[in-house]
Amino acid sequence: MQIQSLYQEIILDHYRNPHHKGLREPFDAEVHHVNPTCGDEVTLRVAVKDADVGPVVADVSYDALGCSISQASASVMSDLVIGKPVGEAMRIAQQFLDLMQAKGEAAPDENTLEDAVAFAGVSKYPARIKCALLGWMAWKDATGRALDETAASPAPAPPETAGANGWPRDETTGRAS
Ligand code: ZN
Repeated sequence: MQIQSLYQEIILDHYRNPHHKGLREPFDAEVHHVNPTCGDEVTLRVAVKDADVGPVVADVSYDALGCSISQASASVMSDLVIGKPVGEAMRIAQQFLDLMQAKGEAAPDENTLEDAVAFAGVSKYPARIKCALLGWMAWKDATGRALDETAASPAPAPPETAGANGWPRDETTGRAS
């Protein structure tokens, strides 16, 4: 089987059987992000909890509308970040962003990105990169808000915000303006 058709199969599988989909309680922050160029939308909730290692992603739940790439990416993202320390999840998000900016030239790290490697080919199509990043951007936004929320109460350690800089807020192309 060609690697591209295998990747296609992984994306379609997540699209047809999305993981962790549906909005759940409890949550610390909720965001709504849209990708107007394609018409994709996602409403996403994040719950964080304090642990010995610092803040941990307790749950991510979402409702997504739009193309198969945006919906499959949200499913894959939720698999990758739930249960992980926020700092580690942010580093995975950064790796996925790097992959999307690699124009199809990257050799993705399957140990870290797992099913997200299936989106490697998407990075060749600038119009679809925003589709693949929508869920990740929403997660990062919601997690930042959730940490602000929990930081308001006495916390033993400041939240780790690795990767907060250098993440494009709105433009995933980074040059069009
Ligand atoms: Zn899309």
